[in-house]
Amino acid sequence: MNEKGKLIVISGPSGAGKSTVVFKAIEARDNVCFSTSVTTRKPRPGEVDGKEYFFVDLDRFKEMVDAEYVANSYGTPRSYVEQKLNEGVDVILDIEVQGARQVNEKMPDAVKVFIIPPSLDELKRRLESRGTDTARAVEARLIRARQEYQEADFYDYIIVNDDADKAASELSAIMTAERCRAAGRKELLTNPV
Ligand code: ADP
Repeated sequence: MNEKGKLIVISGPSGAGKSTVVFKAIEARDNVCFSTSVTTRKPRPGEVDGKEYFFVDLDRFKEMVDAEYVANSYGTPRSYVEQKLNEGVDVILDIEVQGARQVNEKMPDAVKVFIIPPSLDELKRRLESRGTDTARAVEARLIRARQEYQEADFYDYIIVNDDADKAASELSAIMTAERCRAAGRKELLTNPV
């Protein structure tokens, strides 16, 4: 069966545990890759260049934009994503709500997943224990989180990341269910093998 991969767009407040959950789900599955974005922020302890992000300085970022490498807001060439999907590989993008909306316009078949913490208090605790933001930056992220919740009405699924293993298995289950959609398998009915 020559199935196309699915584009999985993940968003959610910073500190909700998106990276944690996504990489756990990827480890547990075959035929899935993470589409690494480019960022100009500094790596946090434990982050590996090319895994969570490609870490570049502003000059390099501008060069990439000029070269149309960063052809869209999430920093990944669309051709790379499409090649993977055609190979039957699911592609996960971790992008903020605004970027997700843009991707959704270009690729409406994308599966949109919003990952949230069990509460905003817990989000605050996670941001504080991650230790990469000042108290002021944490407050700004909490305000941003509330805004994102208001804008998140176009997501197909919401995962509450209370226990990271459970959240990862929910993400994996979503990916499995999306593969089973009749729309992608209609051909099996018209041309049975
Ligand atoms: P994001 O990618 O959404 O910004 P991270 O994956 O960096 O979030 O997680 C933020 C912090 O919360 C990290 O320190 C991470 O280890 C921790 N974390 C992630 N998931 C959980 C969870 N289910 N329970 C407790 N802490 C978590």
